[in-house]
Parts: sequence; structure tokens; C-alpha cells
Amino acid sequence: MTTLVVRGIGRLCTCDPARDDPPGVLEKAALVVRDGFIAFAGGERELAGADLPDDAETLDVAGAAVIPGFVDSHTHLIWLGDRSDEYARRAAGESYESIAESGGGIRATVAATAAGDIDTLVAAAFPRARRMLRLGTTTVEVKSGYGVFPDAELRQLDAANALGAAGHVPDVVTTYLPLHSAPPGDRNAYVDEVVATGVREAATRAYFTDVHCEQGAFTVEECERVLVAARAHGMGMKVHADQLSRCGGARLAARLGAVSADHLEMAGDTDLLALAGAGVVATLLPGASLVLGGPPPPGRRALDCGCVVAIATDCNPGTSYSESMPLMCSLAVAEAGLTPAEALVAATAGGAAALGLDDRGVLRRGARADFLVLDSDRWIDVAYHLGGNVVARVFKGGRDVLG
Ligand SMILES: [Zn+2]
Repeated sequence: MTTLVVRGIGRLCTCDPARDDPPGVLEKAALVVRDGFIAFAGGERELAGADLPDDAETLDVAGAAVIPGFVDSHTHLIWLGDRSDEYARRAAGESYESIAESGGGIRATVAATAAGDIDTLVAAAFPRARRMLRLGTTTVEVKSGYGVFPDAELRQLDAANALGAAGHVPDVVTTYLPLHSAPPGDRNAYVDEVVATGVREAATRAYFTDVHCEQGAFTVEECERVLVAARAHGMGMKVHADQLSRCGGARLAARLGAVSADHLEMAGDTDLLALAGAGVVATLLPGASLVLGGPPPPGRRALDCGCVVAIATDCNPGTSYSESMPLMCSLAVAEAGLTPAEALVAATAGGAAALGLDDRGVLRRGARADFLVLDSDRWIDVAYHLGGNVVARVFKGGRDVLG
């Protein structure tokens, strides 16, 4: 049994959704961690009479703010190939369509990634995962979706699981994304194969199945067939929904009881109300909105409609090459109408909800001891310090993982 006592916390952000004062701040607080879980989260004075073991380790953070580790619930972290040239061409005015016609865009990533073996995929993703950890992410969702060919999709999932086991990275939660970009050849045969065998083989490797419901990607009907098959294999469901057009993705997520609907830039209030009514988390991806120059994610509207809201990086090589949850918090405030407190809760407890996890993203008794010590006594600096990194120390399961 190991015990860690964290004293001198100026402000402890519990981010506990059960409290109605986001981000649920306790002043002059302390944490007691036993075997990786929080045994106490409260005022430091309440610790005076506590029965602590003689060999308890003590850490005095000298007035710093402490927050939960970020839960980044939507990423495409594993890819091969380089699209920096495409970034420059788009900045110079070339259209995405023109770039795609010349072999660029998501097809370039698919071609490179599908050819990679597991070791190569892990080696490419590892530095990104390390950057995430340094920026305070302690749990990250990782999707397939750049394999397209069935064996390459499963290889991406195997690589994601291997990445999570590598150590010195965030915990990895895997998602199978078979309907991402249109496959080469007969699309009906492709969807049939995903339904018949893909989902079953992915179910031993991934917690969720995700679909890209969009004009130019996959229809509501195709997405529903795959999600229903995934549900039958015990997998949770996610939907890339209503990003570029209001095509029915959010309503599909609500109807099937998905764990989250992600993007939602074009979703209407009735769609958001349906998500709220069905308990589907609305995930905002403000990095992609910024890079694509489209409408902002509907953060304020989703909250006003009663949705639980998450913020994620959407880390990918085309539209949001960022590992930074603090930056996403800043963008959610600037673009999506969240308050800094709402953004912090969405990036922690909200992300956990979007992964169906109730053991993290909050700092309360019984939760995993995934927490961050900031180099500031102000939690608001997470969002306010635009593009900065105010994370000084990262604890995962009660262990200092950067030291
Ligand atoms: Zn995505």
C-alpha cells in the first residue's frame, strides 16, 4: 500500500459535475492518494486528525492550482506520411479539392498508413503521445480509420493498444473507425464486409465503433448498419456528426444511444435537444473548426440545450495537428462561447463522459489519481494563457509520470 499526500494546494478544481459551481473549486486543499486512487479530496485543515501511515510520501505544491488530467476523447493519433506541404498549399489559396485530385488529402494519409507495420505506426505516434502527456492529457482516445483495408484497420487498432502499453504515455482507449473516408472499389461491398466481419474482429481490440456521417463520406443508412452491428458485439457507438452539413448524424447518434456525437458545427437546436434527451455527449473539436475556417462548434447552444459537453483535439494530420488540450480550452472559450470554467470541465469530466468512464476526469474520493499540478495558482490560466503550457507536473494513477 502506497500513500501520497499532496499538501499546499491553493485551489483544487474537482471538476465534479455533481457540483453546480464549475469547476468545483476547493481552496487551501489537499489530496490523499492510496494505491493510485483518491482517498481524500478536501480542505487541508480536515487532514489534521487523519490517520496517515508513517511512510506516507508528502508533496507540498506551495499554493499551486491542481486540476484533473485532461481526457482527450477524439483523436486520430496514429498516422504515417507528411502533409505539411498540403498545409502550405492551402494557406497559399489552393482548394482541398484540387489537392485531393493531385493525390493529397486524407487519401494520402490512408495510402501511407495502410502500408505501415505495427512497429512503424507505434514509432510515429509515440512522440505525439508524449507531447500529449507533457500538456496534461492522462487519457486519450485513439481511432483507426486510416487503414480502410480490413487488415490495415485492425493493424491500426493493434498499434493503438501497443502504444498504450508502451508506458510514459496517456492511457489509450481504442475506437474502430471503419467508415471514415470512401473506400476504393465497391462501397456497398465494403460496408457489407465491415458489418459481416470487421466489427466482430474489431470488438476484441476496441471499445467503440465510430462512423463518419457526412455528404461525401457515408450515409445515415450505411452508418446505422455498422453501428447496430457494433452494438450487437457489445461495443459503444460514436458518430462524426453534422460537421459540414446537417446530414442527420446527431439524430442518428441520439436514436441509437451513442456515447457521443462529435463536431456538430451544422447541428440545429432540435438535434442538440435530441442529444441531451438521449444522454449523448456533444463533443466539440474547435481545432478543426479553426483550421477549416468554418462555423464554430455549438458549445453555448449545446450547454443551453442541456447537453453534457466534451472538448477534444481531433489530433490528425489534415485539419487539426495539435496535441494540446489547453489550446482547445482556449479555442472553446474564444470560438464556442464556453466560460473558462465550463471549458475546463468539458476537457476533463466531459471527456471522460464521452468515453463512458466515470473513474476519471474528476478529483473526488474513489476516482483515479490522474491530476496536474500547474505552475500557476490560477486554474483559469489553462485557457487564458493562449498557446502556453501551464502544466508543471503530471500524475497518472498517483505516479509522477514526467519526473
Ligand atoms: Zn475525427
